[in-house]
Amino acid sequence: MSTSQARVLIIGGGFGGVFTALGLEGHAQTTLVSSEDHFLFKPLLYEYLSGEVEAWHIAPAYKELLDERTLIIRGAVSEIDLQKREAIIAGRKGVLAYDVLVMAVGGVTNYWNIEGAETYAFPFRTIENADALRQRMVDALDRVPPDADPQDARRALTFAIVGGGASGVELSTKMADLLRDAFERRALKGEPRVMVLEMSDQLVPGMGDEIRSYVEEALKEIRVEAHTRTVVKRVTPRSIVFEHKGEMTEVETAGVVWTAGVRVNPLVDKLDLEKDRRGLIIVKPTLQTTNFENVFALGDIALYTDVSPRLAGTAQLAFQEAGVVADNIRAFLSGKPLRTKHFEELGEAVSLGTERAAVLAGNKAFGGALARQARFALYTQRLPTWHHRLRVGASWFFEGTSPRPLQPLGFGR
Ligand SMILES: Cc1cc2nc3c(=O)[nH]c(=O)nc-3n(C[C@H](O)[C@H](O)[C@H](O)COP(=O)(O)OP(=O)(O)OC[C@H]3O[C@@H](n4cnc5c(N)ncnc54)[C@H](O)[C@@H]3O)c2cc1C
Repeated sequence: MSTSQARVLIIGGGFGGVFTALGLEGHAQTTLVSSEDHFLFKPLLYEYLSGEVEAWHIAPAYKELLDERTLIIRGAVSEIDLQKREAIIAGRKGVLAYDVLVMAVGGVTNYWNIEGAETYAFPFRTIENADALRQRMVDALDRVPPDADPQDARRALTFAIVGGGASGVELSTKMADLLRDAFERRALKGEPRVMVLEMSDQLVPGMGDEIRSYVEEALKEIRVEAHTRTVVKRVTPRSIVFEHKGEMTEVETAGVVWTAGVRVNPLVDKLDLEKDRRGLIIVKPTLQTTNFENVFALGDIALYTDVSPRLAGTAQLAFQEAGVVADNIRAFLSGKPLRTKHFEELGEAVSLGTERAAVLAGNKAFGGALARQARFALYTQRLPTWHHRLRVGASWFFEGTSPRPLQPLGFGR
């Protein structure tokens, strides 16, 4: 079969899927199926929540990124027959036949079966999730009368973030800055309460000590409460129940956000592929699955062993793997040898509220407003396609990246 006639089906349009599709443009008949109609640069979702960036910056439509040689289908794949080489999209008639399959469906929020978590806590993985959380913050603010006592205002504006990894820290600092700004603008007395609840004995357990000191300092200054060795037991519509050193506490909340875990997409559970105990698809160094040489898997659903543990489950890894997958599909289709790669850490960057960040580049960490600018510059380079990078870079340079205040209802979003 010539490579240009081969049918490549990519399922999932996140970091793994989109960068693979870009690498295949003009080399095969590529179809990208995704549940959304847009890519999402998740590392900047916190900035979308705070209004520092807009949806078009971080969530461009696939049709703006991929040229007409890639067929884009919006839909959720519900079944895959690996033997027949066919996939089914939920709610659509017919099957999608392929010669090569790329599995890039990413993870989903893991609530660990904690009572009430899936029903009452906000997930934070999509544009819609960020919109819903922002709306909840505005609603909670709108319910506080201007003359409320400081302690009543604080109780009404208490938010809990479950999970003290990078996500929980970035989110909590953004929320605290936004809420404090809203207190000032509305002349409310007192201050909001933002708590991060983490099971282990320290925050950002996956990060090095260099960057952790910046994180801890920022949390103190932004007055985010860090509760380590704290296990969440229950989430209710208006509270969170947790245990610390054997003692149970219930705190009234305006909202609980869940960042405490990712699990493999349920579609992967259905597939008869070799997996580890967490359900991750085991891939060879070429990123092919162990039992089907025409099936590749990458990103959050794949277990690639030659990689630093700090890279697992990151956009940096999915992005680097996509380059290898695209090259290897081309090689596979033309009967050439496939390549492998040792994936590198490309540095770490965490946003810490709306005014600062911390960045680790090489072995040097730095923080503050400069690190915030550096993070934006770094992420501009990582956005897909030079065309989109250019548009976004220009917009950030000329129009700035100031946060959008949490306005009362009636003032627009
Ligand atoms: C809020 C947040 C912040 C993050 N920040 C960072 C960071 O700063 N640095 C970093 O390196 N990593 C970060 N990550 C992790 C990073 O985003 C992921 O590791 C990365 O997105 C994984 O890429 P992926 O292609 O495997 O999956 P994803 O990017 O999640 O893409 C999966 C795609 O599959 C689609 N899909 C799912 N199910 C189906 C289906 N059944 N049919 C069709 N399509 C489907 C989804 O719509 C999505 O488009 C962050 C994650 C989150 C949630």
